[in-house]
Amino acid sequence: MPRYFWEYPITGDTKRHATRGVGPATDYDTPTGTPVHMPISGKVTKGWLSDTGHYIDIENSTYKIRLCHLRAPGKTGWRLWRTVVAYSGATGNVTGPHVHGYVIVKKTGRRVSMTEWLRDYVNKGKVSKLPYNTRKFLGVK
Ligand SMILES: [Zn+2]
Repeated sequence: MPRYFWEYPITGDTKRHATRGVGPATDYDTPTGTPVHMPISGKVTKGWLSDTGHYIDIENSTYKIRLCHLRAPGKTGWRLWRTVVAYSGATGNVTGPHVHGYVIVKKTGRRVSMTEWLRDYVNKGKVSKLPYNTRKFLGVK
């Protein structure tokens, strides 16, 4: 049983969407009710849009991470890395339950998928801190 939402199989960023062309993102094929853990320590805010359903934004000085289609609004305020912040769902414009995640790199304004972020940004020098299954998935040691 995966411990983190990002350890679930990835469907590609359009398969679970009723609408395509949403920009770089990763879809994690999570059953409804999967605990969503903080990918970083940061400040959590929440919102709702017709496309994203319930979403949370997790922000530190470097990144803003958006996680979408959650079951219910997450807890807001400062939260620590790896703590449960929300539960997955299928809200918004989707064809099935999943967690849709992407990251804004604040310095450049670039938007990247969760996969790209894990692989190219977070991982640098910190590989050993990621869960085993995540490292295995990413093909790193
Ligand atoms: Zn999605």
